[in-house]
Amino acid sequence: MTRSGESLFQLEQVTYTYTALNTPAYVALKKLNLEIRRGEFVAIIGPSGSGKSTLMHLLGLMAEPSDGVLKIHGTDFAKLSANEKSALRNKHIGFLFQQFFLLPQLSVIENIMLPAEYAVSMQQHENLYEKAISLVKRYGLTGQEHKKPTGLSGGQKQRVALCRALMMEPDVLLCDEPTGALDSATAQEVLQTLAELNAAGRTVIVITHDPEVAERAGRIIKIVDGNIVSDSVNKKTSLHPDELTSFTPEDVRPGAAFLSERVKLAIKQMFVPTWQSLKTQKLRTALTMTGLLLGVASVFIMLTLTGRVGKIFEDFFATQGSREAFVNFDHRLAEKTGAPRWRGLNAKTELPKLSQRVERYGRIEPSVSTGSCAIVSSTGNIKNSLVGLNSLQQLRAGSMRIAKGRMPMPHEFDGKQPARVALLGSDAAVKLFAPRGSGKNTSDSVIGQHIVVRGCEFEGILTVIGVLEPIDTLFDRGVNSSVYIPTQTLFAGGVSLYKPFFTVVPNEGVSPTWFAKHVIGHLTVMTGNQFPFRFFAAEQELEKFNLMMGILTGLTLVIGALCTLIGGIGVMNIMLVSVHERVQEIGIRKAVGARDSHIRSQFLFESVGLCLISGGLGLLLGIAVSSLAFALARLFLPKVENLSYQLDPMALLISIAVSVGAGIAFGTWPARRAAAMDVVDALKQE
Ligand code: ADP
Ligand code: MG
Repeated sequence: MTRSGESLFQLEQVTYTYTALNTPAYVALKKLNLEIRRGEFVAIIGPSGSGKSTLMHLLGLMAEPSDGVLKIHGTDFAKLSANEKSALRNKHIGFLFQQFFLLPQLSVIENIMLPAEYAVSMQQHENLYEKAISLVKRYGLTGQEHKKPTGLSGGQKQRVALCRALMMEPDVLLCDEPTGALDSATAQEVLQTLAELNAAGRTVIVITHDPEVAERAGRIIKIVDGNIVSDSVNKKTSLHPDELTSFTPEDVRPGAAFLSERVKLAIKQMFVPTWQSLKTQKLRTALTMTGLLLGVASVFIMLTLTGRVGKIFEDFFATQGSREAFVNFDHRLAEKTGAPRWRGLNAKTELPKLSQRVERYGRIEPSVSTGSCAIVSSTGNIKNSLVGLNSLQQLRAGSMRIAKGRMPMPHEFDGKQPARVALLGSDAAVKLFAPRGSGKNTSDSVIGQHIVVRGCEFEGILTVIGVLEPIDTLFDRGVNSSVYIPTQTLFAGGVSLYKPFFTVVPNEGVSPTWFAKHVIGHLTVMTGNQFPFRFFAAEQELEKFNLMMGILTGLTLVIGALCTLIGGIGVMNIMLVSVHERVQEIGIRKAVGARDSHIRSQFLFESVGLCLISGGLGLLLGIAVSSLAFALARLFLPKVENLSYQLDPMALLISIAVSVGAGIAFGTWPARRAAAMDVVDALKQE
């Protein structure tokens, strides 16, 4: 830090040349030699177009000398990095412009706090907001702090700009025609304030073409045509350097309060621009947002549906026993090839042989059932088939659970003394023993009741020993309205022993598909190589289903990606327009100390904010459509359980990730363009 009277700015042979593409180069400053010391109050005067503003841009580290040496605090300008220049501007230089350069979308207090957003460090004891409020009070803006600058008078605007310039306690104030847009009374106030600030120790450099303004200064430098034509001390006001108060702000890390203020501002700035462009450019912004909205909605809906449908099918296969496979005689192939009809394996003699051959890998169970029988109880009757139960093992491995009563005993499965016992499917129990209007329910003593079976291969009387719990099944195949009795009992009751249809159950670790083929191999040999067989494995169906779901998910991704791409290009367009429309804002931010990275992240954040808003709306749409889809599914598939809509956290997460990703992907280029903007050029844009 410099002390009073030390050299602040030192120009040696500084030349500045404007070079633009379509215009000849213009030398605005010609080999200037100049030294400005700490604590001085300097007026730079000269006619319009003489190069005053150009000089101010150099002193404000916003432009680079084309030739010569410019030193700040003794440091060569050329040795400073872009970030160091930003930090110096932020902390040590306050700007006042003729056009005030306030940000119209920010309130007075937010405008004042703007430089603090880009501060590398801040005096720890200082609360950002309190600091700004104290400036508001000091400069007579109380009551205006939450207004937008547009509603203020010129004098008030310049005072807001002054507060902003003083926010970081700079030691230099650079003022370019600060009174140019003010009436003379207001101008006098501003000049008085500048004089006071100078008396308190700040270096003040005022650019003006008004000789009256210059009268306030201690030193008057006149520039004509890019040359210094005079440099004189104004005896009336000049202070002796020793009279200046010393001024040494300490650099410390930002305090917590300061950081939280900064985060609040950053978040606000993420969404406010979108809101603003929605307000001013309703249709354009809304249309652009629709692309991404639909993209995210479609991704969300597809992910939700594929995820949930997949889960429902997996559950279904799990309850249906995905480990089982079915082997049977292939009628169709037999007809085609002219193979003889197969009557089946004798369940008593041949099947045990086959079972023995494959028992290392699994077991074989005949699927025995009757045709449609008349089943009659004392209170009701049904027409349905009897289904054979092979063993307790099969019962337990399958999806059958006893709701009431008991399972058959092992000896009841025995071929020697097959028991005439029956398990009722849940629907069968209701129809037989608690038909509608009977006023009864199945908890009335069903167990021990008799049912009579006639009209099919099996005839006889059975004793009910149990009722099954409803079996969860996607498609009603009558499993809940069947009656189950031991297979041996069916055989004993007259059902043919020859079975062309088997259930094969592999041991743990053996593939159902492989086992089914293995069984078919033995079966083919046993039956003399003359019959064709085929098999059905739920496992294979699940694989097919998974493949289908995979393709669907892939398609989803492609559709979602396309929508997101279209939406993203829209977002990029909005951002480019936004950058274009806010060039001056970029200039102002850079002037108060924003680094390129600050500008880049601001626009990137805005782009992410825009995408999050669109994506969020898309998410809401997605949730609405998904719940509607589930409501419809419930309506049309009343048998399927678990069809209530639940928010899929994965779909939610991916949707948010897609939004943020699109924001980053499509915001990067506009943000880079914004960051690359030249400060001086940006400030000159209207
Ligand atoms: P002042 O502030 O004293 O009115 P400036 O420093 O703004 O003058 O400009 C000095 C000269 O440089 C003027 O003649 C002006 O036309 C010229 N000039 C300013 N900006 C540019 C530019 N971007 N390209 C070319 N010439 C410029
Ligand atoms: Mg000018």
